[in-house]
Amino acid sequence: MIVERFAPSPTGLLHLGHAYSALLAWDSACSNGGQFLLRIEDIDAPRCKPEFEQAIYEDLEWLGIHWEKPVLKQSRQLSSYSYVVEKLWDANKLFACDCSRKDIAIASAPQEGGTPLMGPDGIVYPGTCRNMISSSGNFSVPKGKALRLDMATACMVAAVPNLGGDMFYFTEIGSGSNRETGLIEATTAELINNIGDIVLARKDIGISYHLAVVLDDAFQGVTHVTRGQDLFEATKIHVVLQNLLGLPTPIYRHHKLIRDENGKRLAKRDDARSIRAYREQGLTPQDIREMVGLTS
Ligand code: GLU
Repeated sequence: MIVERFAPSPTGLLHLGHAYSALLAWDSACSNGGQFLLRIEDIDAPRCKPEFEQAIYEDLEWLGIHWEKPVLKQSRQLSSYSYVVEKLWDANKLFACDCSRKDIAIASAPQEGGTPLMGPDGIVYPGTCRNMISSSGNFSVPKGKALRLDMATACMVAAVPNLGGDMFYFTEIGSGSNRETGLIEATTAELINNIGDIVLARKDIGISYHLAVVLDDAFQGVTHVTRGQDLFEATKIHVVLQNLLGLPTPIYRHHKLIRDENGKRLAKRDDARSIRAYREQGLTPQDIREMVGLTS
């Protein structure tokens, strides 16, 4: 049985892009006799608000979407995340990092001007604190510091051996922003050089989106992940983590981003284009389907 999920963060009102994601996942679950799950991604507590969570439930119901109860809220999963962070720390896959955004920008500034190399999480980490990696596994996870994945070490264990160099794979049934589809391959060199040592445990909340999403998709038995193309590159990180932790890799369907008339991606700040605003203007769920190009 296929298991689809929609995993919004309650940091603003849902817009057309969210409706598109949720409807695609819902339609896929319905037409395949599968399950549809809703997960509230509220690890970033200061940015999350109960009224936005309530609006998610109301908007989805209005759209005609039904989900299994109880809803998983990531804020209730924090101790299970810490357990995995500790395991990764003990296995010497993480290092503590003190660098501020400014330190990273300075250390990464190209000598000839130009722009630093950007990965899915911003500037690719220049490696400054990597030499602080826990070597003995004897001391506990440091508090008050970000913990980064040592990508090269992780790839050594997590990559699938291949004659042309070690690789990571996932199946894409939608497409990335450059039309990537089918069996997607990522080399360890790409992961190390273009993505780098990403943060797995933020200093403030002790976890990051990447680790939480991978753990919860596995915990909830998600078989199909439907989400925007902006997360296509980040999926390579997710596959590294899945292989490293012995978790299954779901099938991914990345979809087009819904843009405004100027071609700008919709943002949660744009309340005038929220699902709630359209509801209040008297539009119907069918109108929303048509606006995002789902006419069936
Ligand atoms: N919580 C993420 C967001 O609202 C979604 C992440 C995902 O679908 O993997 O953008």
